[in-house]
This record gives sequence, C-alpha cells and structure tokens, in this order.
Amino acid sequence: MADTMLAAVFEGQGALALKEVPVPKISAADQVLLEVEAASICGTDCQILKVPAGHPATPGAILGHEYVARVLEPGSGVSHLKPGDRVAIDPNLTCGLCRYCRIGLPNMCENMTTLGIFIDGGFAKYNVAPARALHPISHSLPTDTAIFAEPMSCVVNGSNKLALRPGESVLILGAGPIGLYYTALMKAAGAGKIIVAEVTDMRAAKAKEMGADIVINPLKESLPDLVKRETEVGVDAAIDAVGALIADALLNTRRGGRILLFGMNSNARFDLQQYDITRYEKTVIGTFIANHTFPATIQLLESGQLPLEKLITHRIALDAIGDGLDIMRSGDAIEIIVTP
Ligand SMILES: [Zn+2]
Ligand SMILES: [Zn+2]
Repeated sequence: MADTMLAAVFEGQGALALKEVPVPKISAADQVLLEVEAASICGTDCQILKVPAGHPATPGAILGHEYVARVLEPGSGVSHLKPGDRVAIDPNLTCGLCRYCRIGLPNMCENMTTLGIFIDGGFAKYNVAPARALHPISHSLPTDTAIFAEPMSCVVNGSNKLALRPGESVLILGAGPIGLYYTALMKAAGAGKIIVAEVTDMRAAKAKEMGADIVINPLKESLPDLVKRETEVGVDAAIDAVGALIADALLNTRRGGRILLFGMNSNARFDLQQYDITRYEKTVIGTFIANHTFPATIQLLESGQLPLEKLITHRIALDAIGDGLDIMRSGDAIEIIVTP
C-alpha cells in the first residue's frame, strides 16, 4: 500500500482541494480501515461549498458522506467484520449517552458528528471509521445499488413515520434525488396512485421511471385541479421533498391525511392557516436523517425492488470531483458516482 492517497479536502470558505494526504491508520480498537469502492456527491456537499456555507463542515476534513467500502483491517476490538467484507457506512456518529440517544432518537443526538462532513469521509481511496458505523452488505449487491444506502436510510425513516397503507394515494412534491427516492419507495410500499409535481423535464422523466403514475409540471398545469380530478378529495398522503412546500402539501391532502416534511430550507417562512390542520385533522410529520433504519434499508436494496441505479446520471474519477460538483450545481445530474 502506498503511504499517501489522493483526497478531496474541505479547506473552508467554499474551497475543496484535491491533494495527496497520508493514508489513514487505525488508532483505536473499535476502528476499521476501509478501502472505498465508490462514493456519491450529495446536495449537502454543494451546500458545504457555498459561500456563505449552507451547511457547516470542518476545514481539513475529507468530504464524502455517502460511500460503500471494503474492510481492509478491523481493529482488535471489532468482531462483526473481517477483511474483505463489504459495508455501507452510516456517516452520522452518535454519542449513545445523551438523553436523545437513550430514548431511541439517535438522530436527535446532541453530540453528533459526521464522517465526510466534520471528520474524514469517502472522497479518498482509504478511510478509517468506527465499527458501529459499518453495516455489512452482501458480496452480490452491486455497488451501483449499495451506494444509495445512506440517503435511502433517511428516506425509509420518513416513510416509516408516514406509514403509507397499500392502495393509498401519495403526492410527492419535487423530483430531485429525494423525491425520486420516495417515488421508488412508495411504489414498493404499495401506493395505489403516485402523483409527482416537478418543473424540469429531465427529473419528470426520471419520476416516471421510478414508478410515478402521473407527473405534473405545476407551472404549466394546476396541481389542485389535477389532484381533485384524480382523487376526488385529495391525496391520502403528501411528501415535501423540497423543504418549502408545506402549503401545497396541506392544500392537496384529504381530510385526515398525513404530510411528511423531508426537504430542508432554513429560510422558508409561511403564512399558514392553522385552522385547516385542526378542523380537517391533518397530521404534519417532520423527519430527519436515519433512525435505526440501515438494516431494513440494506435488505430493501438487496431485494432488488427499487430501480435506483437508473438514477445514476454521471460517473467520474476522484480527480474530476470539481467537474462533478459543477454538474451537481447545474441541476443536470441526479446521482453522480465518484470512484477513487
Ligand atoms: Zn447526503
Ligand atoms: Zn447522543
């Protein structure tokens, strides 16, 4: 093994540097040295690299929080992994000790840190991660499917809260990566009718591939009219995959319906009529990252029910990550796979 490796390092103030850094070594019994198979670029990476930043990160950290890897060397205290095993990585490391960790809400941990954001992640050939972050995946699971484990574990967490029953109708607002993941998942969950609202043609076409029954461009056609025509009373459930569309979700959901808010936009503010939620018994649900959902997500990916590999629009080598980020920012990409 070489002593150094190429890595994409966050340097603060919107700067990402490709540079040679020392290959990491395990320094504690619970750590594992990994060889990265592939990583993917997340919208959060673009947020980190904005000026001013739309998401915090630690200068000096190697980015890349969505990655799949192979175990090279487990630390002496690691019993659930051996060299050669493949793993999906849950990048969010929780403390296990705070009140939230102790009441079953590790995603609300007060001392959380994240591989690939605050500490070194997967935009490099090698990485060291704590064993508890590593979830075994089968040798037969294609990398192109396994790479979705991290974002899908968050999507599955929201889906568990929404608890869609077979045959129910669902409206998905926005067909960026998250909206598309939800489209595929709601199809697998037995949705009776999936309506997706999306303004770009490329993403609208992808929504069809993921299982949407109807895709509407709300700038060209009235969404409430379409929902009324298709469902009479409004959809049973709505998902805001954008983070600013709660009003549309409320408007198009039937009495007693559920609304899942997944997208995040800290600047969005609304003038809402709270009365509608009370009078019509609507349930509004927030959801954030994963919560013990990795194992089920990996089983779901291994079952082959989700055609997520169709969302891979670009493949790049690590030394072209700057181009990859530009493509991501342009909106022309869904999933960009980066290989070290
Ligand atoms: Zn992400
Ligand atoms: Zn905690």
